[in-house]
Amino acid sequence: MNETFARRSLADICSRLYDRGLTVSAGGNMSVRTGPEEILITPSGVNKGMLSPEDMVRMDIEGEVLSGGKPSIEHGFHLALYRRNPRTNAVVHCHPLYCTALAVMNRKIRSGLTPEGVILLGDVPMVDYETPGSEELIRAVEMHSDARAMLMRRHGALTQGKDLIEAYNRMEELEFQAKLQMLVGRTGNLPRSEIEKLVRL
Ligand SMILES: [Zn+2]
Repeated sequence: MNETFARRSLADICSRLYDRGLTVSAGGNMSVRTGPEEILITPSGVNKGMLSPEDMVRMDIEGEVLSGGKPSIEHGFHLALYRRNPRTNAVVHCHPLYCTALAVMNRKIRSGLTPEGVILLGDVPMVDYETPGSEELIRAVEMHSDARAMLMRRHGALTQGKDLIEAYNRMEELEFQAKLQMLVGRTGNLPRSEIEKLVRL
């Protein structure tokens, strides 16, 4: 992907996440792959609603900074997902309120409440709590690297996709499902046979 376009797309997705209330202040970090071995990632400690294309940090997927400032402290699990999944071209991590509430309570997302949840998200695992920026957190995320979306215990949410729009859509859907789950209480999932039918779509 052309670097100028990638920088602009990443800044645009950050301001969308911020405008939709999916991330607040300097929380969260987002990245996009620009080549087989290279990514752009948001810088450390900057409000995601105020990022410009030139603020993004260029890194190789082994973790070396190629240009720009200080990358997000969570770059380790972004890089791990790119190394493991050649088809992943974008990673979005943030702390949406309802996702984070479920993650604090250690309650899994029930993506079987509506067809969209089944189709867009599939099973959403809960990543164990580990200190942000630690090697342990990278390994905990790697254990679920096949998932399109994950909750991170006592922390937030994480999605990956073939491009920024797909990773963004998954985050938006994940927060919608988390909010829905809080509203519907004990109402059950769709019947198993229907979920199987939707998975086959
Ligand atoms: Zn975080």
